Amino acid sequence: MTKIYDRVALIGLGLIASSMAHAIKRAGLAGEVVGYARSQETRDTARKLGFCDQIYESAADAAKDADLVVLCVPVGAMEQVAIDIAPALKSGATVSDVGSVKRAVIDAVAKHLPQGVHFVPAHPLAGTEHSGPASGFAELFDDRWCIIVPDLCDDAAVVEKLENLWRGMGSNVDSMDADHHDLVLAVTSHTPHLIAYTMVGVADDLRRVTDSEVIKYSAAGFRDFTRIAASDPTMWRDVFLNNKDATLEILGRFTEELFMLQRAIREGDGDHLHDYFTRTRSIRRSIIEAGQDTEAPNFGRKPAEKK
Ligand code: NAP
Repeated sequence: MTKIYDRVALIGLGLIASSMAHAIKRAGLAGEVVGYARSQETRDTARKLGFCDQIYESAADAAKDADLVVLCVPVGAMEQVAIDIAPALKSGATVSDVGSVKRAVIDAVAKHLPQGVHFVPAHPLAGTEHSGPASGFAELFDDRWCIIVPDLCDDAAVVEKLENLWRGMGSNVDSMDADHHDLVLAVTSHTPHLIAYTMVGVADDLRRVTDSEVIKYSAAGFRDFTRIAASDPTMWRDVFLNNKDATLEILGRFTEELFMLQRAIREGDGDHLHDYFTRTRSIRRSIIEAGQDTEAPNFGRKPAEKK
């Protein structure tokens, strides 16, 4: 793989940024990767792990002279970071982000960027329930999709360069407009996370089932909810606050379907339940055929990842 950018700056050094740094280095996609994180603790950990060539004490210093600056902070923190880096950006630089919501990030960031700087938002559909600089790994994006939102950039070569970076990091690349992205993600990620948070909350409230039973028998399905519900609270708070309309729309549909299933159970309508579960099973098969999960038990996770 050849070098795509001379200098890439990562603002925020958590799971996604550290995985990007590892993946960029694995494939030699940048001359240097530099970074910034707000806390001394994260900066120290990142320095110790060595996935950046240099770590700065301010976002502006990291962004200065970078050809590509990627905002890797929670969605609600994007605007302040954009304000901080704007004066330091060099003309012709590309700014991107990895936020899980796209319309709100565009509204918050685009207005602060100077003329002559390209803004190409992106969202890698890859993650784990872990966060922080020590949780990243080079393979995170392998065979996962990265969605690029190219609408704000009229230079096709700039967009192509960013797409090539994501391909170089192992991703498949697709493009979408911001509103469509937010609706798709409300279905595939945001609402499922909310349901998982709710299910785990319900089990926690249900004192008739003792805590030890919940933990002991969790492999029956609950365990995969707990994995999702262990995701970073700040990140997910910001996702719901910033993808309100799409999430509420999908939640409305979810509630209607849940009521229908509830009625089928009450009325003993086995045909309805069987037809419904047959349809959902075929969706699961399509996901496996598309290479986005495996048939292996435990959602394809290796035993080492179980802990
Ligand atoms: P993370 O591991 O929690 O890291 C977040 C980073 O942002 C940390 O370096 C943190 O700094 C910094 N940060 C937090 N609040 C900040 C603030 N108010 N101002 C400045 N910096 C702040 O998070 P992540 O999982 O990498 O997520 C980063 C972005 O990627 C989010 O926008 C998220 O929506 C998106 N994303 C996440 C996933 C996923 O599954 N995790 C997947 C795709 C996209 P300190 O460490 O110094 O506190």
